[in-house]
Amino acid sequence: MKTIDDFNFQDKKALIRVDFNVPLDKDFNVTDTSRIEAATPTILKVLEDGGSAILMSHLGRPKGKVNPDMSLSHISEKVSEIVGVQVKFVEDCVGEAVEKAASELENGEVLLLENLRFYSEEEAGDETFSEQLSKLGDIYVNDAFGTAHRAHASTTIVAKFFPGKKCFGYLLAKEIKAIEKVMQTGEKPVTAILGGAKVSSKITIIENILDKVDHLIVGGGMTYTFIKAQGGQIGDSICEDDKMDLALEILKQAETKGVKVHLPVDVLAANKFSNDADTQFVGVDEIPEGWQGLDVGPQTLENFKEVLAVSKTILWNGPVGVFEMENFAKGTIAIGNFIDEATQNGAFSLVGGGDSVAAVKQFGFQEKVSYVSTGGGAMLESLEGRTLPGIAAILD
Ligand code: AMP
Repeated sequence: MKTIDDFNFQDKKALIRVDFNVPLDKDFNVTDTSRIEAATPTILKVLEDGGSAILMSHLGRPKGKVNPDMSLSHISEKVSEIVGVQVKFVEDCVGEAVEKAASELENGEVLLLENLRFYSEEEAGDETFSEQLSKLGDIYVNDAFGTAHRAHASTTIVAKFFPGKKCFGYLLAKEIKAIEKVMQTGEKPVTAILGGAKVSSKITIIENILDKVDHLIVGGGMTYTFIKAQGGQIGDSICEDDKMDLALEILKQAETKGVKVHLPVDVLAANKFSNDADTQFVGVDEIPEGWQGLDVGPQTLENFKEVLAVSKTILWNGPVGVFEMENFAKGTIAIGNFIDEATQNGAFSLVGGGDSVAAVKQFGFQEKVSYVSTGGGAMLESLEGRTLPGIAAILD
């Protein structure tokens, strides 16, 4: 795996795909700078080697049309501030003016290109557009994990114009290593906690990880499809009736493969889907009509705690309750605390995919787990066992 450390950028122009798809407020101020901070070590490595950096990214969903609200010019100052170098901005990402700006770039300088998605060719993975981008730099660096699952021009196709001169930036390399640690090289016992709303959106992940984990903890809305399939009463809890056979099949497969599946045994049930609902703790398979399980109960948490305490590698994807509502967030917070303890005792813990990162950030667990993935969709696809095109294009 070629990373940025395998190259010396002295007198070289690095064409870096970053993920600067950051949130902006109505006055175009960046409200969360974590993606810019995450890309900074890669940019600094190039500059410290004595090279220059050309940064390309998308912002929002302009759908192939120029949209001033989604111009990367809005973030140029913020990038300058964080990287510590006055960034030059160019009002396009391909063409003569951009090529000129790139060729005039001196060592130590940074050039930020305009939003790639102002061109429909970007998402279409257009070859000519990719070739135009490739003219801007000597070495291609992909540091955008959030878009690594897309075969877009700047994330994948452009790489073919850099034979032997392409590599992963620090952020992308870190993501790849974290996934490897969980899926291949992790110390046993390996435990996956899968939560979230539906079985259907996690099914491919479950099937893939059954070969890799020792324990599978199931929580969240998914629980009830498993419980009903086994004959339990789930009241009005969320359930996918058409996935009940699949749920039983998963349990059978897990048994064959020696994976221990841990389902909730008690839940916090509510009489409506609302933070001010009446609540009661009940057995997971005896939820009365008119009530729905919205969080896990205390006995369940005890059970999950025991498993997590002995785990050496932990993957967490999806909340175990409706964490957006304060009254149903306790289970998810408790899981975060158990993972924190396990991590302090030497376990490797990875959180990623979909909403898990939102939950982790909301409750301040990002400093307490070993790694929080920066890519929702890209992480989900990695956990499903797919090779991401942006990663394959560098390894090629
Ligand atoms: P996902 O994006 O698949 O990880 O799903 C996350 C969503 O699942 C969150 O918005 C949670 O509110 C929701 N969720 C978790 N537990 C439940 C539950 N018991 N009933 C309904 N929704 C749930």
